[in-house]
Amino acid sequence: MLCFILWQNWGMEKEMPKHDILILGAGPSGLSTALHLVKYFPHLTPRILILEKEHHPRPKLCAGGLVVDAEIILERLGLDVSEVPHADADRIHFDFAGKGLSIHNPKRHTLRVIRRNEFDAWLAEKTKSRGIEIREGVTVRNIVPDKDGVTVETDSGIFRAQIVVGADGSNGITRRCVMPNAAVYTARVLEVVTPTKPSPNFSKFVRERDGNAYFDFFPVPNNIAGYVWDFPTQINGTPMRCWGVYDTNLLADQKRPPLKEPLAEEMLRHGFKLDDYEIKGHPIRWYDPFNPVSVPRVLLVGDAAGADPIFGEGISIALGYGIIAAREIGESIQRNEYSFNGYKRRLARSGLGQTLFARWLITQVIYSFKWRWFQILLWRLLKPILVLVAWIFVLNWSKRTG
Ligand SMILES: Cc1cc2nc3c(=O)[nH]c(=O)nc-3n(C[C@H](O)[C@H](O)[C@H](O)COP(=O)(O)OP(=O)(O)OC[C@H]3O[C@@H](n4cnc5c(N)ncnc54)[C@H](O)[C@@H]3O)c2cc1C
Repeated sequence: MLCFILWQNWGMEKEMPKHDILILGAGPSGLSTALHLVKYFPHLTPRILILEKEHHPRPKLCAGGLVVDAEIILERLGLDVSEVPHADADRIHFDFAGKGLSIHNPKRHTLRVIRRNEFDAWLAEKTKSRGIEIREGVTVRNIVPDKDGVTVETDSGIFRAQIVVGADGSNGITRRCVMPNAAVYTARVLEVVTPTKPSPNFSKFVRERDGNAYFDFFPVPNNIAGYVWDFPTQINGTPMRCWGVYDTNLLADQKRPPLKEPLAEEMLRHGFKLDDYEIKGHPIRWYDPFNPVSVPRVLLVGDAAGADPIFGEGISIALGYGIIAAREIGESIQRNEYSFNGYKRRLARSGLGQTLFARWLITQVIYSFKWRWFQILLWRLLKPILVLVAWIFVLNWSKRTG
């Protein structure tokens, strides 16, 4: 009889490993949550487990543009992102049909561009080196919160936790399980990577793209509420260009050309034929202030909660969510109270929440007022106002977060 009870308990232990904090997803938001928990509440370190369905370094479709806020958050964690292979853009251009304004940081690079397989693997290694366990190759299938904890069903068994952090990205399962009726706002995005020079067979003379980053909003009057981008990047040390098109879907109820069209048009202007390259797509879930970001015992971070709607910029935002979530979790454990009622308010009051709200408002203006004359006025003539708005509302929020 005793043997039977012991066997039964051992079986349960094996099937239902218990951790206080389960983080689902080892992308920037999940890893940042873990790193900030270790920073603010080091005693929690052995009680955290990250589950990740892939194995790092894993592919992740992303242009890899890191704005200064991402670098500030990493620096504050004692991490030096220049260890990751990168290409730097000296200047960022915001254009309408080839002309507009540009911003330049005289003291440092204006945009650092990494490849996500390399960046995420580096961040995962740093997280492990601080004592966090990451279990890779585990796919989460279902999440069921109850009054005493959360049950997480995976292809490697069932886990039980006090708290679950949904850091599983735009297509993640956490939001679908715990907030099945919440509204979903997703952008559609396509990306291609090319060499820096177009094919020598291209007959028209074109000037080679320099080391700057470009955003061009010319597709907006055609009901594509977004832009075409072109960044410098590198693959295994070889300089390359990363091109793509982003559409918030804000004008989805109107007649739109296929998303490939504006990307093909912009690339052709610079001597590249889109069809010569492999094109990939992935959605980005963007932030809406009316959307829930938690239920009792479960909170969302990163794309699962919502990325920047203007540009689909989500790496710095994901790192920022990690700060807010870590504070919320640590204090909930101290109080032994897991409703997470205050998470949304804490987010809204932080520099991250303020920039997300401002970006959501700006998105409604710049993409809904889609007329050509308005876009020309905005990107070509209102430079001082735009730079001021960007400085106050879009950049430098990380210094007010944490
Ligand atoms: C084409 C494209 C270009 C972009 N360019 C930029 C850019 O230049 N700059 C920028 O800042 N942002 C960019 N973004 C946005 C950026 O990629 C995201 O905002 C960012 O990756 C969000 O990080 P995250 O940790 O929330 O999610 P992710 O990075 O998506 O990480 C989620 C993790 O969860 C894991 N996971 C998912 N489901 C499960 C499951 N069921 N079980 C276990 N694990 C799971 C995934 O494998 C993944 O590792 C771009 C996005 C796209 C699509």
